[in-house]
Amino acid sequence: MKYKEQRHRGLHPAAFTYEEWQKIRSVTDSMHHAAKRSERGRNIYEFAGYIACIHCGLPLRCQGHAVTKHLYYRDTAKSRRLPCSNGGELTIRADLATQQFGELLRSLRLPDNWRELIRQQMVTEAQAAGTTPESIEREKERLKLKKTRILKQHREGYIDDEELYGEMAAVELALKHLDAPEVNGVKYEEVVEAGEHLPGMTALWDVATVQERNEMIMILLQPGGLYYDLENKIVAAIKPQPAFLPILRMLSGVVEYDEAKGLLVTERWQDRNRRATASLSPVLTSSFLYQKLQRLLEQISNTAPHSLLPTTKRHPGPKKPRHGIPPEEWPTVLRRVVENQEPLRNVAEDYGVSYETVRRTVLSAQKKAVL
Ligand SMILES: [Zn+2]
Repeated sequence: MKYKEQRHRGLHPAAFTYEEWQKIRSVTDSMHHAAKRSERGRNIYEFAGYIACIHCGLPLRCQGHAVTKHLYYRDTAKSRRLPCSNGGELTIRADLATQQFGELLRSLRLPDNWRELIRQQMVTEAQAAGTTPESIEREKERLKLKKTRILKQHREGYIDDEELYGEMAAVELALKHLDAPEVNGVKYEEVVEAGEHLPGMTALWDVATVQERNEMIMILLQPGGLYYDLENKIVAAIKPQPAFLPILRMLSGVVEYDEAKGLLVTERWQDRNRRATASLSPVLTSSFLYQKLQRLLEQISNTAPHSLLPTTKRHPGPKKPRHGIPPEEWPTVLRRVVENQEPLRNVAEDYGVSYETVRRTVLSAQKKAVL
């Protein structure tokens, strides 16, 4: 597969492709006996490293109950003396999380024309990122003229059949590429492939082994990308891997805000929270994401429904970023460092800046987030 070697702009570890996952499976199958021995001890939590508290953003710790032997995920904020507006020590039964994630997957109903819908969506996004429809049309026109020229050359005997087929195939391929947009380093075909595999994965979910479910999670979600509300015991949001984002957007009952692109918030959690917004004390939570969502929910309840205003008001400030990381990337940097607790060094490397720059960016971004 093509995007195996490709890193998606270094924003996160490279995603597994379905084929890689198959390979992982065959390898784990071949080590079946070796794995079986320690199976009980290891990998019994499919969401390990992937489930996080929506309030503080910290990854939940896996643990078994001493008496009931049930498996749990527990918030670690309190034990780590970090702030969490939810108390920081709530737990969730592991089997409940598994069941709920399965339900979320099953709520996916792909319309018959999903491929076309996704293509249009990606074309729009590619345009927003700078590829204008005019420039594409111009290029298409140029390629069509080239086809005519090749045919003429063939007719007049300047090129033979073999050359004709070769040249025509090259032009057709170029034309196809123009219709197959690429967004955020993910190609249209990769998204289609993801879409084709998802129903199978969904069907497999309930009957899969814990390890298989864990592998599916790694393919579907970004690390820490299952945000859970431990108080209401519901999935609050998911952050899919880029190839799966366009598909998972089609889950029923999820919303995505312009201000938090890539994060799919469940409507159920949103409704619960909107009602609770009024009663929420202005507790300082450490979760940038939660604060952001909270502000969004407030905005929604203050304005007419569905008129989510983009926060276009820019702060008058220096036009050029003083730091080496463009401001639009700050939320990502913040999330990686504060929530995902990635080493600054990794982030610095991805952006080609110094360790110190990342540290300063995080401080600035946090200040900005509070405003
Ligand atoms: Zn928490």
